[in-house]
Amino acid sequence: MEPATTRPGGPVQRIVLTNAVVFDGRSPELRETDVLVEGETITRIEPGIAKEEAGPDTEVFDVRGRTLMPGLIDAHTHAYLTEIDPIATDRLPFSYVAHDARRKLEESLNRGYTTVRDVGGGDYGLAMAVERGLINGPRVFYCGPALSQTGGHGDMRPPGEVGDHVCGATYHGHVTQVVDGPHELRRVIREQIRNGASFIKLMVSGGVASPGDDLTAAQYSDEEILAAVDETRRSGKYVTAHVHPDDAVRRAIELGIPCLEHASLITAPTAALAAETGTNIVPTLAVIFALQRFGADRGFPQASLDKLARIQDTALAGVETMVRAGVTLGLGSDLLGSLDRYQTLELESRGKVQPAPDVLASATSVNAGILGAGDVLGRVEVGYLADLIVVDGRPTEDLSVLDDDGSRVDAVLKNGSWVKRRATVPS
Ligand SMILES: [Zn+2]
Repeated sequence: MEPATTRPGGPVQRIVLTNAVVFDGRSPELRETDVLVEGETITRIEPGIAKEEAGPDTEVFDVRGRTLMPGLIDAHTHAYLTEIDPIATDRLPFSYVAHDARRKLEESLNRGYTTVRDVGGGDYGLAMAVERGLINGPRVFYCGPALSQTGGHGDMRPPGEVGDHVCGATYHGHVTQVVDGPHELRRVIREQIRNGASFIKLMVSGGVASPGDDLTAAQYSDEEILAAVDETRRSGKYVTAHVHPDDAVRRAIELGIPCLEHASLITAPTAALAAETGTNIVPTLAVIFALQRFGADRGFPQASLDKLARIQDTALAGVETMVRAGVTLGLGSDLLGSLDRYQTLELESRGKVQPAPDVLASATSVNAGILGAGDVLGRVEVGYLADLIVVDGRPTEDLSVLDDDGSRVDAVLKNGSWVKRRATVPS
């Protein structure tokens, strides 16, 4: 990611967070300490430094025994998935989609997410709007539209519909783009990297929300996948792939894709292969359980509900299988439309098969590593960016304190600046 910068000219802002109980993003052991933030960076972590470091230019923030931890990272979001039905989303004017994206990001920050990885849709303009302060949201790692073959998971034309040919593409929506052939893939990937993509997203199997494809179909030819992986790697970026069925997961790993999304039908031998090859996997449970509960009432198409039924009962077991195999597991919610309010359902669902500190490590330090920012984000450590949240309660013992739309996330620092502070803080 881009190196941290400090505003030129002005004095460096200093904040001492005192009486903190710190979850550092990795260790299940909490420690009582003070934390000094100078500018955008954590510069000192030691008990009792508040007095030493106090001064006219230093703000002292009393954490009062609440939990201080790294800001959460959601490694699978779609700011531009405005409606629960992706076909309906693509029929909306982009101005409306962008305003809804702002709502999604601001609510996400309020819940304690200081970084999101937008794996389809999110683009240069969205990241710029956050960076310039137009949106009070998490920093955005983006790829642009997710890439799909004709008739694949990103082709939102219902069967029988011809559709428009926009900019030479068979289909180009707010979240996905159809690109066929190794040559065209290389060209579009170069274009996305030119626009600041930090990774490339490929659809390599069928999916739930797409109207015309079979969930278990393997998508893109080996030749196309190898070209995409090569083109992306040469630019120092990585490919991540949407994939559900076990054989497609195995094929993706064998073709050298370093990161996978969902992997909901993975078996133990394939999980072992993922662990052995160091393939990162980001399971997405919140979208499955939220659609299961609310999808039918909110207009999720029947064909997609039928496909959902094939993964909803095994998805949790799939995560358990990956935990047991020792796969590097990120954490992402993948919520569509207004279901984004269930973002922390991902933490709760993972808590059913993993200890809470492991779930929180996935959502902080492990996710940071998957994003390629493991040396600056996701930990409370000297030299790391000060993305910190103050939580009223102990999420390491009870993940539900992060639920309820951030009502117990009392304060959020992003890049060393306050972006949320509750007016009344319980003593
Ligand atoms: Zn997704």
